[in-house]
Amino acid sequence: MVPMVDLKKQFQEIKGEVFHVLTEILESSKYILGTKVSEFEKKVANYHGVREAIGVASGTDALHLSIDALGIGEGDEVITTPFTFFATVEAILYTGALPVFVDIEPDTLNIDASQIEANVTKKTKAILPVHLFGCPSDMKKILNIAKKNGLKVIEDCAQSFGAEVNGKKVGSIGDAGCFSFYPSKNLGGYGDGGMIILNSIRVADTIRELRNHGSRGSYIHKRVGLNSRLDEIQAGILLVKLMRIDEYNRKRRQNAALYNNLLLDKVTCPIEKKDICHVYHQYTIISRKRDSIQQKLKKNGISSVIYYPVPLHLQKALKFLGYQKGDFPVAEKAAKEVLSLPMYPELEESVIEEIAEIIRSTV
Ligand SMILES: *Cc1c(COP(=O)(O)O)cnc(C)c1O
Repeated sequence: MVPMVDLKKQFQEIKGEVFHVLTEILESSKYILGTKVSEFEKKVANYHGVREAIGVASGTDALHLSIDALGIGEGDEVITTPFTFFATVEAILYTGALPVFVDIEPDTLNIDASQIEANVTKKTKAILPVHLFGCPSDMKKILNIAKKNGLKVIEDCAQSFGAEVNGKKVGSIGDAGCFSFYPSKNLGGYGDGGMIILNSIRVADTIRELRNHGSRGSYIHKRVGLNSRLDEIQAGILLVKLMRIDEYNRKRRQNAALYNNLLLDKVTCPIEKKDICHVYHQYTIISRKRDSIQQKLKKNGISSVIYYPVPLHLQKALKFLGYQKGDFPVAEKAAKEVLSLPMYPELEESVIEEIAEIIRSTV
């Protein structure tokens, strides 16, 4: 079976370095908030050209703690997309704030910035764009609206480590950028992990306290926080992979270009607007024949996944928000037509050709 992502292959290539760093950490007996976490934080901050980076336990926590530390909570509204992973909205709800959905663009599948302003109310405190599948949202428009209305911008970069808008890395554009190091993400550890990047030293200090029981150590607690630390072992592994992230993303882009060449006349392929660098966390096609394509791929031993089959406004868990079918027609149509194909740096050209051939013979 051709998998969606082949972590085994990647591990074989970096095994020596991973074992080396693991041995170092295990022998140091410093497992929580030691030198690997701070080294990784510094390197990620430098990579993005920002002042601060804070390692946390997951991408979900990165979003939760950012929203919280920016002073958003009970009674506030956060504008976001209904076409994303559930965690984006969970994080908003954890803080007591309410998500307000805005439909997506049919081509990028990201939040349609031209519809944001009509949804700004007195309660709106932030815009939370998701750079879905590795494709940056329209940050120029989003920043303009935020500035005009005095809103914070929190970027969900869980799927887009290394992606760029106008040469600027996503996550460094808004007030905070939130990353996930879940194993299958573009930059993934061997367990859970996350990070927040930002320029405000004051907000960064708050997040550093929140991730560690509201304390900077020594059992003095300034606020009630939680236990959400990135651990040394994950940071060590991520340091090995961070050195290769540009190369990994370059190969993803190369694979996407080949898919595009072979599929463009048959299905709708992902697009890159002007000044955008997409990092293809997923390579997602759009087709009315999505279900038959998926069946045919399966028959031929090729994995494919529907990200996402139900937009968030129609999820049972979020029924209390009061949205209905028909509220976000573009997201609802996307849920019926998207299909993500195998995508990873080590994916071979011959396999992409085989996948494309199967799709071409189906549509
Ligand atoms: C993976 C993901 C998250 C959550 O990250 P975890 O590390 O799994 O908590 C949030 N938002 C998006 C868009 C994601 O893809």
